[in-house]
Amino acid sequence: MVQIHSPRPFFSMTLEAFLSKRVVTPEGVRVAAMLVEDDRIRGIAPIGEVPREARVQDFGDAAILPGLVDSHVHINEPGRTEWEGFETATRAAAAGGYTMLVDMPLNCLPATTTVEALEAKRAAARGKCRVDWAAWGGVASDNQRDIEPLAGAGVLGFKCFLIHPGIDGFTMVTERELRAALPHVARTGLPLLVHAELSGPIEAATAALAGADWKSYATYLKSRPDEAELSAIRLLVALCREYQFRLHVVHLSTSEGLALLRAARAEGLPVSVETCPHYLHLAAETISDRATLCKCAPPVRSRENRERLWQGLREGTIDLVATDHSPCPPSMKKLDKGDFRAAWGGIASLSMALPVMWTEASGRGFGLPDIARWMAEGPAQLAGCDSRKGRIAAGCDADFVAFEPEAEFVVTKDRLHQRHAVSPYLGEKLRGVVRATYLRGQPVFTEGEFPGPPMGREFRR
Ligand SMILES: [Zn+2]
Repeated sequence: MVQIHSPRPFFSMTLEAFLSKRVVTPEGVRVAAMLVEDDRIRGIAPIGEVPREARVQDFGDAAILPGLVDSHVHINEPGRTEWEGFETATRAAAAGGYTMLVDMPLNCLPATTTVEALEAKRAAARGKCRVDWAAWGGVASDNQRDIEPLAGAGVLGFKCFLIHPGIDGFTMVTERELRAALPHVARTGLPLLVHAELSGPIEAATAALAGADWKSYATYLKSRPDEAELSAIRLLVALCREYQFRLHVVHLSTSEGLALLRAARAEGLPVSVETCPHYLHLAAETISDRATLCKCAPPVRSRENRERLWQGLREGTIDLVATDHSPCPPSMKKLDKGDFRAAWGGIASLSMALPVMWTEASGRGFGLPDIARWMAEGPAQLAGCDSRKGRIAAGCDADFVAFEPEAEFVVTKDRLHQRHAVSPYLGEKLRGVVRATYLRGQPVFTEGEFPGPPMGREFRR
């Protein structure tokens, strides 16, 4: 047997062995038994060396993936629970193979910009979560003094906007306000996640679109040019150089940003970047007019841009893939009018992100270890929970997914477990089915059901 975490008595009532022909570990895919004792992974063993007293479950051809970690989710509770909420977001997560979510500080009321607001969120989450969760704290225009207390109270890092976030209750930061916050952020040692778009290029582009047809996707795309992202990334890299904080660029949409990020990293700056399943799957050329379900910010760009983002993943410039799961009541998508200017920007994908990614990745020659790195280990490292989350390895929480990579299905409403079953993926045929999801050794999703009471809890550093 290999990778025994610590000496244990030979006999244990709670030892379980999960067998698969494809256990996806950081060292590669192997035919193996994952041994689970209580709520942790005890080790990975050859199938012939499973201790006799272990209770055995054989997944056969279904792969065992680490439970996915989503470092970019808008749960919206407390305050906008009619948009989503802990109960429904974590249910959608469990069905999608996620075992840990990190919640964004906006969309909820109060926004998570003070310790008091963090406590309100904790109270709202209690007893409702089917997977584990944690919070990002907000860096807003006026809460510089709350940054270190929030770190002390247990947020895993911070999030700010360089542009109006499109919602009341959370303010963007100007460069001056950001400069006031950055020494505090740097002292915490925690990452600052930034929505990297500047308003200047967007306002200029939008002004030039007077009289344009906002039912056309092309109009919306023109209104949010690449330059909005690029100018923000340039500013952020300069600030990172000056203040030496951990910079993480969320939801990179323009592939033109890759060169800037690559250069920043070559310089030794602590910079990381994510993109999202929708930027890797959808393409502007195939988004119909009035298809506001596809609206998000920054926008889905061209097919060629999408392929360059895949290249960014291939070469390791993009560290991870997060969903930016951002639901709203269906009426806010303005589906009747098909108006891209008025519709809420956000795509809810917790239940579908894994098959969307696997469909695209497997078609480009990537394997399950790539998925595990982008969607489990990478986000766990960003959030600082990688000693316990994001890997099939001894000592980690027994969070894992039984995944059938070759199975195909058509996306139907009953497979979307978020509060509102609206999605741009409805009707699509995708590859890869989540058969079961386990949180700390217990099934939280299996064959369409959610067994047992909610046992998710907040991850604390
Ligand atoms: Zn977001």
